[in-house]
Amino acid sequence: MSTEMHPTRWGDPARASALPQTARDLVALVFPVADRMVADDAAVSLPPSVLTAEMLAELASVVGPDHVLTDERSRRLRAGGKSTPDLLRARSGDVSQPPGAVVRPQSHDEVQAVLEIASSHRVAVVPFGGGTSVVGGLAVRHEGYAGGISLDLGRMTRLLAVDPVSMTATLEPGLRGPDAEALLAEHGLTLGHYPQSFEYATVGGFAATRSSGQSSAGYGRFDAMVTGLVVATPAGPVELGRAPASAAGPDLRQLFLGSEGAFGVITAVTVRVRPAPETGVYEGWRWATFDAGADAMRRLAQAQLLPTVLRLSDESETALNLADPDAIGGGVAGESGEAGESGGGSLMVVGFEGTVESVATRRAAVTAVLADLGGEPVGEEPGRRWLAGRFDAPYLRDSLLDVGVLVETIETAAYWSGLRRTYDAVSAALLEALDGPALVLCHVSHVYETGASLYFTVAAADGPDPLGTWADARSAALDAIVDSGATITHHHGVGADHLPWLEDEVGAVGVEVLRAVKAALDPQGVLNPGVLIA
Ligand SMILES: Cc1cc2nc3c(=O)[nH]c(=O)nc-3n(C[C@H](O)[C@H](O)[C@H](O)COP(=O)(O)OP(=O)(O)OC[C@H]3O[C@@H](n4cnc5c(N)ncnc54)[C@H](O)[C@@H]3O)c2cc1C
Repeated sequence: MSTEMHPTRWGDPARASALPQTARDLVALVFPVADRMVADDAAVSLPPSVLTAEMLAELASVVGPDHVLTDERSRRLRAGGKSTPDLLRARSGDVSQPPGAVVRPQSHDEVQAVLEIASSHRVAVVPFGGGTSVVGGLAVRHEGYAGGISLDLGRMTRLLAVDPVSMTATLEPGLRGPDAEALLAEHGLTLGHYPQSFEYATVGGFAATRSSGQSSAGYGRFDAMVTGLVVATPAGPVELGRAPASAAGPDLRQLFLGSEGAFGVITAVTVRVRPAPETGVYEGWRWATFDAGADAMRRLAQAQLLPTVLRLSDESETALNLADPDAIGGGVAGESGEAGESGGGSLMVVGFEGTVESVATRRAAVTAVLADLGGEPVGEEPGRRWLAGRFDAPYLRDSLLDVGVLVETIETAAYWSGLRRTYDAVSAALLEALDGPALVLCHVSHVYETGASLYFTVAAADGPDPLGTWADARSAALDAIVDSGATITHHHGVGADHLPWLEDEVGAVGVEVLRAVKAALDPQGVLNPGVLIA
């Protein structure tokens, strides 16, 4: 697998593929289908870097001249993330916010030194992990600055320590999901964090965005796995997490988790690890309705009986995935990669990982609850298909964009008592804003004793102004989320795209607190301007 992503698509350039004809025919039943052109590489030109030769030389004196990249391709590849608007801009040849240079440090001390140079010259610094942000977290906004750099952490890929007694491991931030798992596997351990972006996203990015993976029911969200952090900030280094629990004031680790590069650069992450699972079983359950399935999830969570994987597609997502799973590669179901299955209703995927004995015991207990609540077991095939296709949906998004179908996602979370209200409000807002043939699908992908996330996937005709169309739809959805009392993001983060709604969530005083923290850690305001803090 290529470690460098395609500049205008998701993932490995070798895996890019056209929509199969059968799927194209199916899509044409709902949307007008027409091939879309992507700007020729040769026609893409970047604004020139405004960084001076002296600044570049200073940066090179820290990381080495080979690790200050100023060529167009390197700058272009770090000019944004992988949201649909990012892809649409990249496809049209718009690379208007690239870094002036890509700087690739290899150690905490090098990161610290780069931040000092950037602060002294007032150069914007955008930490870059895997480049999979979907909230505008990576554009280099350097208006009013002496230029901007992308701080690519891709050379910081060591497993620094393993404590098999405490069951913790310390990882460098640039490790991508598969590489982190491979290093831990050498010690018989796993992290168990599998977001759909797993193949490209990094440990530092997981921490900086409060990521949540597909096995969060069993392993927890990423922020819940973190026990310690080392952070480089313009004000100096910060090291946190010296005991499993502490009453030494507010937990400052929480300031950096989810700080999206605006407060500091995470240079090491200590995580709680688990023994690598001996076995895994993944199976499907069908519910008459989405509400019945969601209620079953709540009962499992509140009985402390959560399996490792627990996901539920609403009726529309279930129906779409069973339209022709072979042709459409598991559906457009965003991060779930939900499995196809016949019979309608609402499909739930339930997975168990662990020792043979624990899987058998937990599976029996969960099966008893689900059967008692009226679920219908539909065997292991849907689970197997989900597992096989769990990282594939982003490739399908590209194939749909190729034929003029706008596909994007938006996610939130609500308490159980308000979940249906949020579901209805967001679905209605999206459909109304899209005003034309559109599909709005949803699944529950992360559950808690007190509530759950909702993950919406939207498909609509791209029309003459797809960026404007999605901006309006996202705006309507976020207004509906706020009005219904849910969060503006459960796991993607705020970035620049959700920033206008942050005050609705944390209040004016909350925003002031964030500003004050930034002023203390980053007095020159060089870290990721425009992200998290206006
Ligand atoms: C197709 C697709 C599927 C996705 N699926 C999921 C999913 O299932 N679950 C989920 O939670 N998210 C998902 N995401 C969102 C994204 O993958 C996550 O936000 C991920 O955690 C980002 O990691 P990254 O290494 O790519 O970070 P980047 O995208 O490189 O950076 C994200 C933000 O964090 C900052 N940052 C990065 N590294 C550091 C660091 N070391 N220190 C400080 N700041 C840093 C950046 O400046 C940026 O603001 C998905 C995205 C895509 C495109």
